[in-house]
Amino acid sequence: MSELHICRIGEEDIYRVPQLERARFPARFFFPDIDPGVLEQNRDWLAPNFHDPASGDVFLAFQSFLLKAPGRVILLDPCFGNDKPRPSQPRWHMCQMPFLEHLEALGVGWRDVDLVVSSHLHSDHVGWNTMWENGSWVRTFPKARHVISKVEHDAVLKLVAEAGPDTVIEDGSYDDSVRPLIEAGCVDFVPPDARLAAGDGWTLEFMPAFGHTAGHCAMVLRAGGESVIFCADTLHHPVEIADPDIRCEFDRYPAQAAQSRKAVLGRCIAENAILIPVHFVAPVACRVGGRGEAPVYRPLVPSEPKGFADV
Ligand SMILES: [Zn+2]
Repeated sequence: MSELHICRIGEEDIYRVPQLERARFPARFFFPDIDPGVLEQNRDWLAPNFHDPASGDVFLAFQSFLLKAPGRVILLDPCFGNDKPRPSQPRWHMCQMPFLEHLEALGVGWRDVDLVVSSHLHSDHVGWNTMWENGSWVRTFPKARHVISKVEHDAVLKLVAEAGPDTVIEDGSYDDSVRPLIEAGCVDFVPPDARLAAGDGWTLEFMPAFGHTAGHCAMVLRAGGESVIFCADTLHHPVEIADPDIRCEFDRYPAQAAQSRKAVLGRCIAENAILIPVHFVAPVACRVGGRGEAPVYRPLVPSEPKGFADV
């Protein structure tokens, strides 16, 4: 089984498809108000994978997720893409990374993907919608429908309308990674609680998780008696499980984002759901236990209950 395999629930295999496996950031880059004591208090499970106590740095991943169900190939949050001009993001400005090669290694060609879902429209969640070919941005997955939350898209359109002619929206990603899809007529704008896909014994739905952006949505997969919450940027780092009130610099509406974090963590506890956030480094997936008032990180381990296969 591929090292990119996260788990199998029901007949669905879930894989991570990384672009940056492990990026180091000063904790205060993401969390300007963080009390370093929080990292220290949780050092026994944060270090060394998620946190480097010597420097105080935190580690984040940048990746997509692939769902393979019988007859369906679904890509969630198509990362930042290649060749995209992002001067404000030196780590992936004009990058060349083996993302499509990872998909190929998982037995998925560019013709196979039939649905692409973006939790929101930040540049690291829409990039592989398009690729640069013969002087223009073309669809990477020509057979796919693309799903975007209508609330999210309306909010971005408002930004576009209010911006001056020289203003760059979302690092330019709307123009090179979203607009070409809309012009091709392959985008479905849906409500933030919409059913996105379903098959024999499984469903995939949006769950509103506003705050990181105006219309940011998590995705909930149900299969084989299990729930998986792909919470996207509702959490950026596992320390937010220990303290969901830590403000993230990249949350546009911080108070609403904290409420959404607590709602997702509460649902994980109530349903014993598997949590898969975009920016957690491998092994990415966890469950969330309850200890009094505070949620607790519980990594997936081989002794998980029947119906779940770890690798
Ligand atoms: Zn992100």
